[in-house]
This record gives sequence, C-alpha cells and structure tokens, in this order.
Amino acid sequence: MCTMRLTKEVRNNVVREVVGEDVLPVMEYLLDKENISEFKIAEALDLEVNRTRNILYRMYTHNIVTYHRKKDRIKGWYISYWTLNLNRIKQLVTELKRKKIEQLKDKLTKEAANENLFFLCPNMCIRADFDRASTLDFRCPECGNLLAQQDNSKTIENIQGLIEKLEGELADDLKTKAVAK
Ligand SMILES: [Zn+2]
Repeated sequence: MCTMRLTKEVRNNVVREVVGEDVLPVMEYLLDKENISEFKIAEALDLEVNRTRNILYRMYTHNIVTYHRKKDRIKGWYISYWTLNLNRIKQLVTELKRKKIEQLKDKLTKEAANENLFFLCPNMCIRADFDRASTLDFRCPECGNLLAQQDNSKTIENIQGLIEKLEGELADDLKTKAVAK
C-alpha cells in the first residue's frame, strides 16, 4: 500500500478535476468508512437517492469507489454497499502530474521552436503573429514604429520551472511508494 501523503487539498483537487465538484461531499463522507449503502449516504448528505447513485457510478467509472451488492432480506431488493478506494485516488494524483508534465513539455517545444512567435509595437499598439507582422513590413500601422520580436525566454523559463517542480514531486511520490512496499 502506498503511503504518499494525500492531503485534503490534493485529494479534492484531483477528484474535482477528474470526476467533478459535486462528488466531493460523498468522498468526504466515505473517508474512514467501509461498505456504506447508497441509502445511508443519501440520507447523511441530504441528497436524493438517484442523485447519490449517479455520483457513485461516476466515481466508480474512475475506480474511486468499489461496491458489492447484497439482497435485502426484508425488502427483497438488492442494495449496493460502497467503499472509497484511496489508493486509486493516489494513482490519479500521479497520473495527472504525468499528464501535466507531458503537456508542459509540448508547450516548451513549441515555444522553443518559436511557433508562437509574436511581434509587439514598443508603444503597445499591436501584437501580431509573424504572417501579419510581415504583411505590415514589421511596422506598427498605428504609430509607425518598428515592431520588436517578443522575447519568450521568460515564458520558457517559467515552463521549465513548472516541469522541474512537478518532476520533483513525482519522484518524491514514487520514493514514498517504494519505501512503503
Ligand atoms: Zn504602435
């Protein structure tokens, strides 16, 4: 079992992003509990049973909860009993970080290749991409000043910083996981 620190903030952020905001009260309620019926959850949170089921099934499609069904001896119908899968939430934290690193690396490649090359008027009248700037002969149509290439080194630096931060976090997460094994 993984012992990655899963603070309330981290937990809420990842589940909000993957499943949705309305899931959070159900997740909170199921913490430190096991095999809770959907009726009990609905009652505790003052939600309609159908609404509660909808939330639980959405969580289930991401494996954030597990359930088993049992026939109610008196009523004769089946009731589902739900348990939160905290390890899966930890996995999602790691998966999301990996995804974000990939996206940032894509962005970095594009910035570095100057695909987002922009030209600015020193008086801030316009900002134009390369095609537009070249049709203007690199002169501002408003004030006639020469357009200057926008420096994206700060942007590149910021993206690199974010990637380093996420990769560091990921390495820490995996380290704690290895120790716990
Ligand atoms: Zn200008």
